[in-house]
Amino acid sequence: MKRIYLDHNATTPLHPEVLEAMTPYLTNRFGNGSSIHAYGREARNAIDTAREQVADLIGAKSPSEIVFTSSGTEADNHAIKGLAELQRSRNAGHHIITSSVEHHAVLHTCQHLEKHGFDVTYVPVDRYGRIHIDALREAISEATILISIMHANNETGTVQPIAEVAEIAAAHDIPLHTDAVQSVGKLPLDVQELGISLLSLSGHKLYGPKGIGVLYIRRGTRLENLMHGGSHERNRRAGSENVPAIVGLGAAAQIAKTDRESNVEHLNRLTQKLRDGLHESLDGLYENGHPQHCLPGTLNISFEFVEGESLILRLDMEGICVSTGSACTSGSMEPSHVLAALGIQPQLAQGTVRFSLGRDNTEAEIDEVTDKVPKIIEQMRGMSPEYKRKRKSSKPT
Ligand SMILES: *Cc1c(COP(=O)(O)O)cnc(C)c1O
Repeated sequence: MKRIYLDHNATTPLHPEVLEAMTPYLTNRFGNGSSIHAYGREARNAIDTAREQVADLIGAKSPSEIVFTSSGTEADNHAIKGLAELQRSRNAGHHIITSSVEHHAVLHTCQHLEKHGFDVTYVPVDRYGRIHIDALREAISEATILISIMHANNETGTVQPIAEVAEIAAAHDIPLHTDAVQSVGKLPLDVQELGISLLSLSGHKLYGPKGIGVLYIRRGTRLENLMHGGSHERNRRAGSENVPAIVGLGAAAQIAKTDRESNVEHLNRLTQKLRDGLHESLDGLYENGHPQHCLPGTLNISFEFVEGESLILRLDMEGICVSTGSACTSGSMEPSHVLAALGIQPQLAQGTVRFSLGRDNTEAEIDEVTDKVPKIIEQMRGMSPEYKRKRKSSKPT
């Protein structure tokens, strides 16, 4: 059966040109970037090129501000733990501000630090998942050493007012970290213009390979290291570089920059088509992402009287691949922390599906989805006693 992949916020397929760029470094150009001979120089040059490509995508002042990591998760850990440890060693403050809707890579890192003597404020969000900016402002104290607020949410697609956050951070001289894993390549992003100190991104959310990420560290921002060993990455991240993956991420960054505008237009068109198609043939559905400030291609919808996991399994049987909440929490019946933070009632949260579109999706695929999803939902609702009761009680007498 032909499959329709609508789960790009979980991971994206490798772009064919990325694979092409990587292949020599998986075969005959196998050198270690630290070796002095020809093989080593070949690898070193390839790493340097990729560093420039990534720096160019996010507007870094210098490629030396780009540190390759093993993932977006490692980049988040490095930023937060690295700053926390440095400040601890200086006996400086012990307070971190983040939000209640962060990815687990940030949230669980902060929770870990709480067990080790740090105080963390989790800034609450509105019904669309945008942070209350006044709550952020009020949370700042003399002890605040870091603000970590994501650029765009992986579940809802909601985009945070990152420029405003940056302004507040700068006014208090507090470094700002942003997890931009979902927004890079979809939203225009310039770390210099925004005044961001630390930024995380990940290869596989960007049509690059898995197992490679980047931490942008603005020049002058000091951090403790996470990995100790050799002098790789200018002494900031030890371990022989994953050359093929780094080359792949570089190529993906370059393509993302060139194609961003046309991709966004494509994603917006298809997302609107999906939204319209679902609303046309269904009621009792609620969009959770922000109506204006939302990632192109992400549509997070709660369907009344439907159990999300079952819906996803039914869709999977039809070849339609989507997600409940986030991939990391699926498999557990806990409603996602993001939907809970939005104030969505647990029962409705259970009926939530995330559609996340990508560059290769077509109009024909969306037609098929808007044909099949409502039919399956109607069937499932037909079997729900609550739905039948509600239908009865809302009939005019
Ligand atoms: C996927 C994701 C991550 C983790 O990136 P990995 O490279 O998979 O470790 C972090 N933050 C957000 C917002 C993500 O979507």
